[in-house]
Amino acid sequence: MRSSIALKSMPAKQHSIQQAFQQPLTAPSWNADTLSRYNLRGPRYTSYPSANEFRDAYSPELYTQALTQARHSEDALSLYVHIPFCENICYYCACNKIVTRDRSKADIYLDYLYKEIDMIAQLLGTDREVKSLHFGGGTPTFLDHAQLTELVYQLAAKFTLSNSDEREFSIEIDPRTVHNDTLNLLRGLGFNRLSLGVQDFDHKVQKAVNRIQSFEHVSNLYSQARVTGFESISFDLIYGLPLQSSASFERTIDRVLDLMPDRISLYNYAHLPQKVPSQRSIDRMQLPSADEKLAMLCIAAEKLQANSYCYIGMDHFALASDEMSIAASTGRLQRSFQGYSVVHAPETIGLGVSAISSLADMYVQNHKVLDEYYTAIDKAMLPVARGLSLTSNDKIRRDVINQLISTLSLDKNAFQQRIGQNFDEYFQTAQQGLRQAEQDGLVKLSADAIVITETGRLLLRNICMLFDDYLPASTAQFSQTI
Ligand code: SF4
Repeated sequence: MRSSIALKSMPAKQHSIQQAFQQPLTAPSWNADTLSRYNLRGPRYTSYPSANEFRDAYSPELYTQALTQARHSEDALSLYVHIPFCENICYYCACNKIVTRDRSKADIYLDYLYKEIDMIAQLLGTDREVKSLHFGGGTPTFLDHAQLTELVYQLAAKFTLSNSDEREFSIEIDPRTVHNDTLNLLRGLGFNRLSLGVQDFDHKVQKAVNRIQSFEHVSNLYSQARVTGFESISFDLIYGLPLQSSASFERTIDRVLDLMPDRISLYNYAHLPQKVPSQRSIDRMQLPSADEKLAMLCIAAEKLQANSYCYIGMDHFALASDEMSIAASTGRLQRSFQGYSVVHAPETIGLGVSAISSLADMYVQNHKVLDEYYTAIDKAMLPVARGLSLTSNDKIRRDVINQLISTLSLDKNAFQQRIGQNFDEYFQTAQQGLRQAEQDGLVKLSADAIVITETGRLLLRNICMLFDDYLPASTAQFSQTI
């Protein structure tokens, strides 16, 4: 009701753009022909520029200065904590992880992590409310209960962790390492969101990727998480794994639908054994063909949409009643290294080995090798390995790409007001690609706006690529967009 009153006072042009922003998400049709024509390599745009553009030997002093300035911001803050250890290797995995059963390694790691937390907190101060907290890895639940408790205590002692209902405190769960008591502990520590690594429920597929976890165990954990009061539960699924077929993946989707998690991330497996050594254990001959993969994607997407899920964009689905779907249809979605978020916390501090921080004018990544991370901290230095100071052109393009991802549209007049430049002139080189995208039904163009269509939502990465100044030189390093 309030929004319709606000719309009445808007000029007619602005009104039509606002309506485009606020259209409810409806089911796009997954046409295999259109999708396959746009199946290129491209970034996932969890940042712009992507991490591939970060420069080595980035100065920790620049990060120190930025943190000192960031203490004065009134925006809420986001923290990401990386726990790199895993008990077993999943052959497909390209994450930064250390496979070990030696729990004492986690104690040593945590001691260093606490020193890093201390250094960051001294520079950043404690005033900013942390509304978004994410534990990722690796396997955060590699830590035992005492270690998890101490880690949250250390964070709470150095930062202002929010206890508002709006907070998003999430943790990635490897179901094989978690039982009901861990869920109770995590809820007690303030986590309100879980992300479960499911990937596929088919036993043959699980065996081929060395990740065996029964449906019954995942189902029991899921039920307990509901009882414990987690507000949002997300499943990660992967299509394109060895021995998957469209029929077997459809059965996995059916089992997922028996449980109805709030959110689903549906990722495309990228087979890059030259870059990811563990993928050499996967038999290339067992991988599904490109056509079969596309069929899996279409079947999964159609089934999910027929069962109350909205396609948000960028591999993510959410129940229509979920906050993420509501935020998507009202232009309130945020994009970060962890994917989508509904919390406005535009700066992220990454803590731990390989973690990435995002501040107003820079990205910074910690050392990826544990010994190098430890050596820097032993020298009382921030463990910075790589980073990028953003140019004004980078920031303008980041702004446009984030707008497109978050609101599925772009208001050219608002751009001119914010940036002081004419949109079409600034992005002259994108015009031809935009016209082609319009002919292919991905966008609707007008003098004032770009509005992404339902089909275009499936190909958001491709549309963002039109505004990426670093392409095409580096596309070989990215996964396929579909
Ligand atoms: S998928 Fe998760 S549990 Fe498996 S190796 Fe990768 S980070 Fe570890």
